[in-house]
Amino acid sequence: MNRLYNFCAGPAALPEAVLKKAQSELLNWQDRGLSVMEMSHRSAEFVAIAETAEADLRELMNISDDYAVLFLQGGATQQFSAVPLNLLNGNNKANYVNTGQWSKKAIKEAKRYCDVQVVASSEADNFTNIPAFDSWDIVNDAAYLHYTPNETIGGVEFFWTPEVDMPVVADMSSTILSRPIEVDKFGVIYAGAQKNIGPSGLTLVIVRKDLLGNAHASTPSMLDYKVHADAGSMSNTPPAYGWYMAGLVFQWIKEFGGLTAMEATNRRKAEKLYGFIDGHDFYANPVEIQSRSLMNVPFTLADSALDKAFLAQAEEAGLLNLKGHRSVGGMRASIYNAVPEAAVDALIDFMQGFAKDQV
Ligand SMILES: *Cc1c(COP(=O)(O)O)cnc(C)c1O
Repeated sequence: MNRLYNFCAGPAALPEAVLKKAQSELLNWQDRGLSVMEMSHRSAEFVAIAETAEADLRELMNISDDYAVLFLQGGATQQFSAVPLNLLNGNNKANYVNTGQWSKKAIKEAKRYCDVQVVASSEADNFTNIPAFDSWDIVNDAAYLHYTPNETIGGVEFFWTPEVDMPVVADMSSTILSRPIEVDKFGVIYAGAQKNIGPSGLTLVIVRKDLLGNAHASTPSMLDYKVHADAGSMSNTPPAYGWYMAGLVFQWIKEFGGLTAMEATNRRKAEKLYGFIDGHDFYANPVEIQSRSLMNVPFTLADSALDKAFLAQAEEAGLLNLKGHRSVGGMRASIYNAVPEAAVDALIDFMQGFAKDQV
């Protein structure tokens, strides 16, 4: 059977070239007689894999030596607690922007550790927009500002970075590597791997080095950024195979032409899909136009009674995982880096045909 087009929100599609490369190296990596999965993380072989991956990521994202890059376990969700534990530094206040389900989870976790100031929220609008920066009610003596640049469930994305006099912390799980960003504008960037980086089980943290070393005394060592930074993410066994796979993805992005080329393709894919949805009475996307995600495109059918048939027929047509998140319903097409433009074209063809069949 052929590989089908996969629109899953996460774990998401991986580039076929990366899977093939991993397959070719699975049993016997570069003639060393063993798999990467079976290597000591302290071996010269694995250390070379790890260092190359980090160097490639630094090149792709233009990450300066002012930042540590950590390859961790625990998912983005674990960072919801790691961030306050590492950054509060005796302060008991933090600013959070609430633009969707992932923001809410980060806020809920942070409330265990400090007074959370919700500086702005789009919840009253069902998370279909991003509150204008000049309306934000920021506490100036708080330890940091946290936001979610791309809300994976609602399909809402920031195309600007908040500029404030405190470290900016961003959950970039579903937007990292989709386009260039200015890392220097952030104190901490974190991302679960299973959207644009690699398989699940790996979490990337990019942290400005001057923020290291202030973790609360109660912080578990495994959540202390300094412990991981000092040990090159090898204080304990790192997610070694995921790290290797991420390295293959970074190489694939470099061969693609880097993040500028990636952005051009991602914009084309998203514009096609939103353009089709907007031009068709049968489909709708609720998000304000300037905040529509390049990566996650939620949409509804004119009649939700047809959702089941839509999903069943889509699957028959080789289009997988279009069901929307259980909290919002409808459909969602996640069109991450590894989802080719041909997949978007096939989806639009299918949507056109499905709508026609209903009249
Ligand atoms: C997927 C996702 C998460 C959760 O990631 P885990 O690795 O499952 O903990 C958090 N934030 C955002 C924005 C996500 O897309």
